[in-house]
Amino acid sequence: MIRKCDITKDRDWIRVDKFTLKTMYDNVFAIGDVTEIVLGGMVTIPKAGIFAEAQAKVVAQEIIDQITILRLILNLMERAFVLWRWVVTKQDILK
Ligand SMILES: Cc1cc2nc3c(=O)[nH]c(=O)nc-3n(C[C@H](O)[C@H](O)[C@H](O)COP(=O)(O)OP(=O)(O)OC[C@H]3O[C@@H](n4cnc5c(N)ncnc54)[C@H](O)[C@@H]3O)c2cc1C
Repeated sequence: MIRKCDITKDRDWIRVDKFTLKTMYDNVFAIGDVTEIVLGGMVTIPKAGIFAEAQAKVVAQEIIDQITILRLILNLMERAFVLWRWVVTKQDILK
């Protein structure tokens, strides 16, 4: 089924970033036997459960990091908005 999808890009397996396990599509990760992870342009990581499990942990951390960064940005935007409102209110009082 995977081989029929665009995600393999005419290959047998899904190519992923070896550090993040991200595919060519945003917010889509791939782990385990469906992936092909080439190291040093020559060796591929063997298709074994031990690697699939380790990859699952990497992806879980990637998703946690993405959510954490998003929350941080939203938090900063909220603080900036509160500060902006405070400045505008002060200016109105001084007029
Ligand atoms: C005989 C044998 C012995 C092995 N021994 C070891 C070992 O000792 N140590 C080791 O580390 N690794 C071993 N492996 C390799 C290990 O089993 C795999 O690398 C590992 O299971 C890969 O995990 P995965 O989640 O990528 O794929 P899988 O474990 O194959 O899981 C894929 C899942 O997707 C489901 N699926 C498939 N198609 C669809 C579909 N169209 N829709 C919905 N679901 C679908 C399947 O039913 C399956 O449950 C062995 C493999 C074999 C065959």
